[in-house]
Amino acid sequence: MPLPPDLHVHTEWSYDGPRGSMERSCVRAIELGLPAIAFTDHADFVQVHEGQHCVDIAGYIDCVERCRLKYTGLRILSGVELGEPHWFPQETRQILAAAPLDKVLGSVHCVKLGGEIVDASQLRNRKDADIAAATRDYFAEVLLMLESEQPFEVLAHLDYPKRYWPAGAAPYNERDFEEPIRNVLKAAARTGRVLEVNTTRGAVLCPDLTVVRWWREVGGQAVQYGSDAHSPDKVAEGFKVATKMVEAAGFKPAKDPVSLWRR
Ligand SMILES: [Zn+2]
Ligand SMILES: [Zn+2]
Repeated sequence: MPLPPDLHVHTEWSYDGPRGSMERSCVRAIELGLPAIAFTDHADFVQVHEGQHCVDIAGYIDCVERCRLKYTGLRILSGVELGEPHWFPQETRQILAAAPLDKVLGSVHCVKLGGEIVDASQLRNRKDADIAAATRDYFAEVLLMLESEQPFEVLAHLDYPKRYWPAGAAPYNERDFEEPIRNVLKAAARTGRVLEVNTTRGAVLCPDLTVVRWWREVGGQAVQYGSDAHSPDKVAEGFKVATKMVEAAGFKPAKDPVSLWRR
């Protein structure tokens, strides 16, 4: 079975993509026989990482157009990964008005810890942080994002804190968060969102089988895949395992390989 499109890839246009390259990611996608790739560079408006900034959308779009002319056999989709769009409705409106985008991902990366904005990847360095409580806050924030009427189509890496789970804490288990996760999934289904299965560059499935099954149970219609690659060698990493998992959860590929997987 051919691999599905990789619809979550970062390039040199992301603040955290120094090893990214849109051109070489296209070359890699063609090597792998992917039917399509979407470049979803960060549209972040928080300041929690060194040098964090929103994608230069005009420069990015020029680069997409150059790649489309050069790699005519590959379907190249434009896009962004919106970070906490519900905290920044005006900035979000501006970025989406600046260019026609094919794929808009909605992501929560941050939670508020005693009023301070912290990326979930930083929680493991906080000795004072209660990781389970912060994860509940995280899911509450995802729910707010989904209900905020921000115009994004895809819910990205819905259990992002799992990637950075502290070594000393009790292991992450979906079932410990079943109620908040189901509430997130119900809101995503109700608002017609697509669930992303993010393979974290081949390291962790975000979300895993249990959650994709819940997605089907609550009426979720469609699934798409994203590697979250920040360098060309990671494009579509983990997709073989991910497609088997999604199939086991009851979703099937469409005849058209560019289309989403549906129930
Ligand atoms: Zn992200
Ligand atoms: Zn990403």
